[in-house]
Amino acid sequence: MKCLSCGRWSFKIVCKECTKLFLEPSPSFRILSNGLRVDSFYNYDEIAPFLHTKHTVYGSKVFKILAKKSFLPFAKNFKSHLNIFAIAVDDGVKDGYSHTAILSNELKNESIKPLFGALRAKSSFKYSGKSLEYRKAHPREFECKVPKDSYAILIDDLVTTGSTLVEASQKLKNEGVETLFALTLANANNY
Ligand SMILES: [Zn+2]
Repeated sequence: MKCLSCGRWSFKIVCKECTKLFLEPSPSFRILSNGLRVDSFYNYDEIAPFLHTKHTVYGSKVFKILAKKSFLPFAKNFKSHLNIFAIAVDDGVKDGYSHTAILSNELKNESIKPLFGALRAKSSFKYSGKSLEYRKAHPREFECKVPKDSYAILIDDLVTTGSTLVEASQKLKNEGVETLFALTLANANNY
């Protein structure tokens, strides 16, 4: 196939050279309004062309490559004495795959286990480009299937206003689940 980025022939949808050039993580973090810490592997602008494949036939392959460059090494280096669930926010299947499940699937080690389908939104409002006011007025209304008295790392592809992660962690708290922190592929603070 051809590399999505440079157009040269490649075994993967993003070639080795482009992966090295464009997909080295540059970690950052934010503290959300409820005190939740969100660590992000990339800034949105850095990987925007790759994220734009999300709703295309290449989406799952690109997300897999991104997850292997970010979530996988994070899990390798993360140690804890706790038993933790990696919980993707709303990992329902869209466009034939679940982009957040691809991310959480790479976040596993001796203490972290991905739990799929554990936090699904009942509402399906489109948040992209919407204001914080809109998001607050149209909550996701999550359904929680996480065991009580457990620990969680919340996972999403993007953090924009942070309102989804705040709502998700609040829902978990109400169900007796403590969110340790959140991990997102990209920080889209300015969107
Ligand atoms: Zn390339």
